[in-house]
Amino acid sequence: MTNDGYIKFNIKWIKAKPLPESVIRELNKWRRKLFDAGLIGMYESGIGFGNISMRIPGTNEFIISGSATGGIENLTAEHYARVTEVDHEKNSLVCVGPIKASSESMTHAAVYDSDHSVNAVIHVHNLRMWKMLLDRVPTTSKEATYGTPEMAEEVMRLFKESDVKEKKIFVMGGHEEGLMTFGKDLDEAGSVMLRYWEEFGK
Ligand SMILES: [Zn+2]
Repeated sequence: MTNDGYIKFNIKWIKAKPLPESVIRELNKWRRKLFDAGLIGMYESGIGFGNISMRIPGTNEFIISGSATGGIENLTAEHYARVTEVDHEKNSLVCVGPIKASSESMTHAAVYDSDHSVNAVIHVHNLRMWKMLLDRVPTTSKEATYGTPEMAEEVMRLFKESDVKEKKIFVMGGHEEGLMTFGKDLDEAGSVMLRYWEEFGK
């Protein structure tokens, strides 16, 4: 029960029209680069992996790629949802849009809540990079598995106890292949990811 296709959190989905294409343009630009690198994609089993999000400026809300979109080459506004409320204690969130938010939205939210200067978060899967960087960059506990409140707690702990703010990357110790980067904007989060991938994951 650790794969990305299984949503463990409680999600309240308010169906709504897609956001304007102009809003998701920057997200899609980076999402495409990561897809081309194989960092976002789909396993042979048909389960998608990887997701990307962007804070709505000046709010605690963010726009994130939708559930089960990993394998789709080109996303449109139909594939993005807005996360409007997050409750880490209850492991629940509210999202608005034409699709349900990614099953890893709680972890994205933990990054936004930990550092208000963060405006973009990227999550990818890459086994080679994961193995190379495990415990070499800030790493969440191996006990905390994907999509759990413990994972969100671990992310918040890293922001208090490690140099993750400077590194802008962490390994998800209990989510094999899982890595996250973040930044003040998508260019920063994306560049950090591609730089580590070039060196350790390619
Ligand atoms: Zn994942």
